[in-house]
Amino acid sequence: VNTKKIIVVGGGPAGMMAAIRASQLQQEVTLLEKKSSLGTKLLLSGKGRCNLTNNTDLESFLERFSGNGQFLRSAFNKFFNLELMQFVQEGGLKLKIERQLRVFPETDRSQGIVKVLESELLRNKVKIIYKCIVKDIGVLENSVTSVLLGDATSIKTDKLILATGGISYAFTGSTGEGIKLAEKLGHNIVALRAGLVPLKTKQSFPGILAGLTLKNIALKFVSAKFKVTTEVGELLFTDFGISGPLVLTHSGKVVDWLRQGNAVFVDIDFKPGLTNEQLDNRLLREFKVNPKKTLKNILKSLLPLRFIDVFLQCSKIMADKKANQIKTDERKLMVNLLKSFRLDIAGPLPIEEAMVTKGGVSLKEINPRTMESRIVKGLYFAGEMIDIDADTGGFNLQAAFSTGYLAGESAALS
Ligand SMILES: Cc1cc2nc3c(=O)[nH]c(=O)nc-3n(C[C@H](O)[C@H](O)[C@H](O)COP(=O)(O)OP(=O)(O)OC[C@H]3O[C@@H](n4cnc5c(N)ncnc54)[C@H](O)[C@@H]3O)c2cc1C
Repeated sequence: VNTKKIIVVGGGPAGMMAAIRASQLQQEVTLLEKKSSLGTKLLLSGKGRCNLTNNTDLESFLERFSGNGQFLRSAFNKFFNLELMQFVQEGGLKLKIERQLRVFPETDRSQGIVKVLESELLRNKVKIIYKCIVKDIGVLENSVTSVLLGDATSIKTDKLILATGGISYAFTGSTGEGIKLAEKLGHNIVALRAGLVPLKTKQSFPGILAGLTLKNIALKFVSAKFKVTTEVGELLFTDFGISGPLVLTHSGKVVDWLRQGNAVFVDIDFKPGLTNEQLDNRLLREFKVNPKKTLKNILKSLLPLRFIDVFLQCSKIMADKKANQIKTDERKLMVNLLKSFRLDIAGPLPIEEAMVTKGGVSLKEINPRTMESRIVKGLYFAGEMIDIDADTGGFNLQAAFSTGYLAGESAALS
């Protein structure tokens, strides 16, 4: 292979992996990063623990992407979860697999992942320029020729890999500049929206319950046209509404329903293991065994303590009513509230607070086998800036690493 000059823009997981792979293939690689250090968002990931990837098989993995997973098949065939885990472990960092096959460093610290990447960049002699902002891209006869930097200097290059991330958590450096540059060069940009984002509710009581986690519940998100029931999991009340894995996972869909002008509700099922009838029978039994017990005391075996007052307010049944005084329609109402306690969704938090950006450079304009632009030769894309997003569980980082790896290899071998 002739040695080429390859510039990678963005020192996140996608850009670092692209630079590593291209340099492993003996190319002269320069990594340009706007901030004064690498992997700022990566450090924050997984609440500072970094959920690196997921140990599930390829088909289940692809299903966790919001409709665009198939695009990643080639990238994953080249460099998937086992390869990523091997790469990290060969770099000296032990990994562990937690529930739902989520992979973390054994140390529970994302810092270790960044260190492995940094030492691999160093070992392969990648030149890193910090505090370097790419402002524009030079193109001649449909081929990349150079990048223009914030200080008005420019650097010539044979190949250019853009890996500048999405637009959330902007203080980490991901401000969407690469997406704008791609647009300027003629690429279509699929509208940028929040994915994996907490939701605001019209009701204000979640604020009073902020910090409370409901466990072993299921949710049903409902709009006029759509309905989706989640698996059993957890819900977290926050100052403004709801969050937690079940909410984050389905938030992307909810954002899209809201954007289409639909009202959206979420029904909490406190007893997903029981049908309405089974729950009704359970209440009947309970009332019979403890006829003098107050409703408030009965609810203690059914709901978290902090939620009981909210429940009583909504049911409008007096807290000190005794079991043998509760009428049939009151009991039916209790069953309905326990099986579908409704909240109105007001909207998502701003995209700045989203864990992932939906939308980005249109997949139609990227060759999935190489990550090269179909519009500008010698220009490659990787990571969150392309129209790819997934569930929580390590899927987004794997997508960043795999597309980075493929872009780096393609740029080197083309
Ligand atoms: C709080 C939080 C927790 C998360 N936890 C997880 C998790 O546990 N598991 C998981 O799989 N995913 C997680 N994600 C998502 C994951 O972190 C991202 O999908 C991933 O970091 C995207 O990688 P990237 O390399 O494409 O972009 P980024 O990591 O965003 O990196 C882009 C880089 O490009 C630089 N840059 C931008 N513009 C320019 C420019 N013009 N010139 C030079 N440099 C530029 C930026 O400074 C930045 O360093 C989390 C996200 C957040 C916000």
